Amino acid sequence: MDHEQLVICHDEATGLKALIGIHNTTLGPALGGTRMWPYASEDEAITDVLRLSRGMTFKNALAGLNLGGGKAVILGNPKLKSEAFLRRFGRFVESLGGRYVTAEDVNMNTSDMEFIGMETRHVTGLPEVKGGGGDPSPVTAYGVYMGMKAAAKKAFGTESLKDKRIAVQGVGQVGKYLIDHLIKEGANVMVTDIFEDKLQAIAKATGAQAIAPSIIYDLDMDIYAPCALGATINDDTIDRLKCAVIAGGANNQLQDEAKHGKMLLEKGITYAPDFLINAGGVINVGAEYLGGYNREIVFQQTEKIFDTCLGILNKAENEQIPAQQAAIETAKARIEAIGKVKLSY
Ligand code: NAD
Repeated sequence: MDHEQLVICHDEATGLKALIGIHNTTLGPALGGTRMWPYASEDEAITDVLRLSRGMTFKNALAGLNLGGGKAVILGNPKLKSEAFLRRFGRFVESLGGRYVTAEDVNMNTSDMEFIGMETRHVTGLPEVKGGGGDPSPVTAYGVYMGMKAAAKKAFGTESLKDKRIAVQGVGQVGKYLIDHLIKEGANVMVTDIFEDKLQAIAKATGAQAIAPSIIYDLDMDIYAPCALGATINDDTIDRLKCAVIAGGANNQLQDEAKHGKMLLEKGITYAPDFLINAGGVINVGAEYLGGYNREIVFQQTEKIFDTCLGILNKAENEQIPAQQAAIETAKARIEAIGKVKLSY
């Protein structure tokens, strides 16, 4: 997958086993979060870190950030985390001299970043009270909302989501903020989650209609917004989906990037690529790392996802290629162009 570097980190004393993938640093230091997961094998972890770090290259490039793509995975049960364990990981990050910058991802939180930050400067996503940018989720949700509006403009001829039937899968950090934007705009919102209490609480608080997780793919809806897991767009679900647009915050929505991107194109579903529209979070942590963090500017930068998404959907239509492919080509073109600029002193 064209990576620059894959680092294997191991520490006997704390039991730390981690991988750091640096995919491309043409635009700047490789920024991407650290995920902790009890992988079934080392091979599985390697595949994950390679895939995720490549995705960050494209995400950061399309967001207009001067940051490359990287990601780290820590192998094992999150219960293993201790101060020493996290600081040992921080030492490994520091050893790369700023080629890789870490942040939170699955099973890692802002207080973990504080421990990592005791050993390295190359960490971002710290709590607001510690001078960080705080929770990135509202920014991510805003970007998803912008991307959804762009996809709506393409599919329905108007960016307005008023009266559109939108199904949001997952009422977690991203889902709940997205629902607020949609309700405010007068959309007809249906929501689901595997945790019934959480689902009912959000439905009650927002006025959205709660539905069972199992029926989401069969709903009569205009827009499907995956905001839970990856790989929900696959051989089984594409046949069932009746929506005109897919736009959501979840990472890696297409189970098979090439195959399922093409199937969506053939079915006439407008797909807003996930790594393009869920970049608000990385825009937020990137701004924190690069210095002079300003929440208002972060939201302004995230708003641009609307124009970027529309441009990519137009390219996809003109060239009759899947939107995912159009997005990757656009990201690669920026990396190549800026790489040449950097050759001059
Ligand atoms: P979260 O854990 O807060 O929320 C996910 C929600 O999905 C949970 O409420 C969970 O119960 C629910 N869920 C899980 N499986 C489900 C299923 N089968 N059906 C319905 N609901 C299900 O996570 P989050 O931070 O909101 O992130 C959501 C997605 O967006 C993830 O894929 C994440 O990688 C991605 N993402 C998040 C951010 C961010 O800023 N938080 C940034 C970029 C991408």
